[in-house]
Amino acid sequence: MNRLRLIGAFLCAAAVSHAAWFKGNTHTHTINSDGNATSDVVARWYREHGYQFVVITDHEYLTAVAPLNALFARDGQFLVIAGQEVTQHLGRSRDPRDPTNRPACHVNALNSRRVVVPLGGTAGKAFGFAPPEMTMAETYARNLAEIRAAGGIAQVNHPNWKWSVRLEDLLGLPDDTLFEIWNGHPAINNLGGADEDGNIAPSAEALWDSLLSKGRRIWGVAADDSHYFYHLAETPGPKPGQAWVVVRADQLGAESITAAMARGDFYSSTGVVIDEITSTGGAVSLQLNGQPSGPRFLTKFIGREGRVLAEVPGLHPRYAIKGDEGYVRAHVTDSNGLQAWTQPVFVAGR
Ligand SMILES: [Zn+2]
Ligand SMILES: [Zn+2]
Repeated sequence: MNRLRLIGAFLCAAAVSHAAWFKGNTHTHTINSDGNATSDVVARWYREHGYQFVVITDHEYLTAVAPLNALFARDGQFLVIAGQEVTQHLGRSRDPRDPTNRPACHVNALNSRRVVVPLGGTAGKAFGFAPPEMTMAETYARNLAEIRAAGGIAQVNHPNWKWSVRLEDLLGLPDDTLFEIWNGHPAINNLGGADEDGNIAPSAEALWDSLLSKGRRIWGVAADDSHYFYHLAETPGPKPGQAWVVVRADQLGAESITAAMARGDFYSSTGVVIDEITSTGGAVSLQLNGQPSGPRFLTKFIGREGRVLAEVPGLHPRYAIKGDEGYVRAHVTDSNGLQAWTQPVFVAGR
C-alpha cells in the first residue's frame, strides 16, 4: 500500500488557530534609494489599495518604519515592515560579448534590523561588486548569512533580470528561502527566453520547479519591485499593485508575517484571489474567489520537473495525491491572464 507522507506548509498551518490572510508586497523602493516617492506616499498607497502590509526594501538603506507605523499602522489592518534590497553584483561579466554586464544577484532582507553591505560595497552607498573570483553561489551564501545575522529572512530577487542567474547559482540556497517567481518590474524577463545562439533561460517559475525537484524547500514569491508612484495610468512601471503575496498568519506583526512566509504559509498572485487552500486527506484543494458570470479559471497542478499532473477548470479545483509526484503545487490562471501560485506540498511516497 502506498503510504503518503505530506510535509506541507499548509498542513503546518492547520495547527494555527484563528489564522487570517494578510495581503502584502515584499519589494518596494522609496526616495531613500531609487524610488520616486517618499516613504509616506508609499505606505499610504499600499494602505489605500487593500494591502495589510508592505516591506520597504530600499537599496542599502533601512528606511525607518516606526514613524511610518505611528502614522499609518492599525492593529490587524495595516503594518509597514523594515527591509533592504542587498544590491549585489558579480565582479566580472560572464558574457564576452557584453563585458560590462556584471550579473546581478540582488537579495531582499525582510524584517531586518540593520543594513547588510554587499560584497565590495561601502556603507551608505548602494550597489557592490564582488571580488572577480567569487561565484554567484558564494555571494548568495555570504549575503544570506548576513541577512540572517541582521535578523531578517531572505528573498532572492528577479533571477532573469539581465539574464543574470542560472540554476547552478541557486543550488546552495538553504531551505525556506523565498524566491521571486514573478516580479512586477516590466524589464525582468519573468518568462525566460532563448537568444539567437540558442541559449535558453528558463522562466523564473521553471527555475523554481528545478529547485523543488532537487528537494529544495524554496517558496515562490510574487512582488512589485515598485519604484514609481505618480501618473500610474501612463507609466509602464515599475509601479505598485502588480504582484503580491497573501500570507496566512495568526496576527499582523512583522515577526508573525515573516515566520509564516519562512514556513511557506502563503500564496502569490497577480490578481487571482484564493479564498482557501487545504492539503489534507491526501488531496490539495483550492477555493477560488469568483462568480459564474465573471472570469473563468484553469488550475494546473504541477509536480516534479514542472510536470502538469492535472488541469482542472472552475472555482473548486482539487487534486488527489498519488504518492509519486515529488511535490504538488497549483498554478491558477484566469481568462484575463491574471495568475496565482500556491506553495508546494512535498510528497514522499513509498
Ligand atoms: Zn533588484
Ligand atoms: Zn528592487
